[in-house]
Amino acid sequence: MTRQGLSADAIIVPSLADAVPRHLCTDCGISRTDDPKRCGRACQFIAPDYPALETKVHGRARDPARTDEQFFGPFQRMVRASLKAPSPGAQWTGIVTRIGARLLETGAVDAVLTMAPDPDDMWRPVPVLVTEAEAMAQVRGMRMGYAPLLALLEPARQRGFTRLAIIGIPCQVYALRALEKELGFEKLFVIGTPCSDNTTTEKFHDFLNLLSDQPETITYLEFRADYHVELRFADGKVKEIPFLQLPISKLPPDFFPMTCRTCVDYTNVLADITVGYMGGQGEQWLIVRNTRGEELISLLGDELKQSAPGSAGKRKGAVTGFLANTERAAGGLPLRRMPDFLRHIVGWLMPRVGPRGLEFARARVEMKAVETVLHLRRAEPKRMKTMIPDHVWAIVAPYGLKPQAGERTTLETDVAPTQQSAV
Ligand SMILES: Cc1cc2nc3c(=O)[nH]c(=O)nc-3n(C[C@H](O)[C@H](O)[C@H](O)COP(=O)(O)OP(=O)(O)OC[C@H]3O[C@@H](n4cnc5c(N)ncnc54)[C@H](O)[C@@H]3O)c2cc1C
Ligand code: SF4
Ligand code: SF4
Repeated sequence: MTRQGLSADAIIVPSLADAVPRHLCTDCGISRTDDPKRCGRACQFIAPDYPALETKVHGRARDPARTDEQFFGPFQRMVRASLKAPSPGAQWTGIVTRIGARLLETGAVDAVLTMAPDPDDMWRPVPVLVTEAEAMAQVRGMRMGYAPLLALLEPARQRGFTRLAIIGIPCQVYALRALEKELGFEKLFVIGTPCSDNTTTEKFHDFLNLLSDQPETITYLEFRADYHVELRFADGKVKEIPFLQLPISKLPPDFFPMTCRTCVDYTNVLADITVGYMGGQGEQWLIVRNTRGEELISLLGDELKQSAPGSAGKRKGAVTGFLANTERAAGGLPLRRMPDFLRHIVGWLMPRVGPRGLEFARARVEMKAVETVLHLRRAEPKRMKTMIPDHVWAIVAPYGLKPQAGERTTLETDVAPTQQSAV
């Protein structure tokens, strides 16, 4: 991959070993390393230990007295933010790739490990090592799907890179943190994004095909916090579709893989900083988790506009309805039973009266936790005991979901619900 104006190794694309097939796996790359057996202690889908890793990474696990930490993981502060000069081609304003560029500009890292678009399919993520700040422009924007990011850790070491920044989604960051010590990097900066409802790039193309007669002209897609999907097209047109009018009923029941229906970390709790949009009410939403995360923000200086996140509306009704729909769908996609005329009215009302800002983010985390419990209970009940952390049981408790016999490691089946509970 050589790009105009960049040196030959500005973006390094090492060749990859084959993946070892695993059940419940998003091919984070660990099975392609020298020691694929490490999956056993690194995988989010086997026996994650969030309290231990949160303590290792942030110096403490979530504080029960800070309610929002039960939803979003440990943090020092949350910020609503945007770059004053948005970067062209970025998913939002480009905070993530600008942090990467600043790390390279200031010489804080040797390389940034992240995903570039496949030259033949812009929606397909390809793991790369970026070594020049200008080259971060080439990796802006979101691809749909997962790819073996962590398979590039060994090639990075072989090239003598000892100070690395990694931009990753939660299932990649969990495995990275579980193995961080043995990887032996001198310095590691972890910039995380939230992630949910991911699927394979192939299946994502099926979704694009339903959204437009010319799906190949779609250049951008985002599920926004105002309950609309935004599409941008090659000719500059923009289309906004209310969630309720998406052609979900035409998708096959297995559109979302079991991994992405049941993963337990929406907000990337082990990153130094999480950069998302869910709590941002139209702007980006930063969760600064530790001093390294603070260091990353400070690299942006005056380029960053910051304000306090807002919160409005009540999530209880939305989450309760989601739970009922998910139960009713029995493994298919949760469709809302509603006549078309009502769909339009509710679609208009939701951004105005539904949960907004941090309340929207809490609602999404609760919905994800509900999905984890219901889908594992139906499809992978034996996994529940080791895969569902206590904080997930606490998040779903206000909605009447409780561990049944054999579903939780500890003997008790009652879990203290999160404070500020929804019910
Ligand atoms: C699959 C996926 C689902 C997401 N879901 C949510 C969500 O539900 N809620 C929310 O608040 N935020 C979500 N995000 C994050 C959000 O879409 C933005 O990426 C984030 O807010 C950063 O915006 P930005 O303008 O700063 O990013 P940019 O500066 O444009 O940088 C984006 C970075 O993400 C990397 N990237 C792109 N695609 C992938 C991929 N498939 N896997 C790993 N890395 C990738 C790029 O390489 C680049 O480094 C999701 C991101 C992904 C990749
Ligand atoms: S650690 Fe990564 S490669 Fe291994 S099973 Fe888990 S997701 Fe798959
Ligand atoms: S939804 Fe979860 S399992 Fe799927 S790619 Fe995102 S973080 Fe990984």
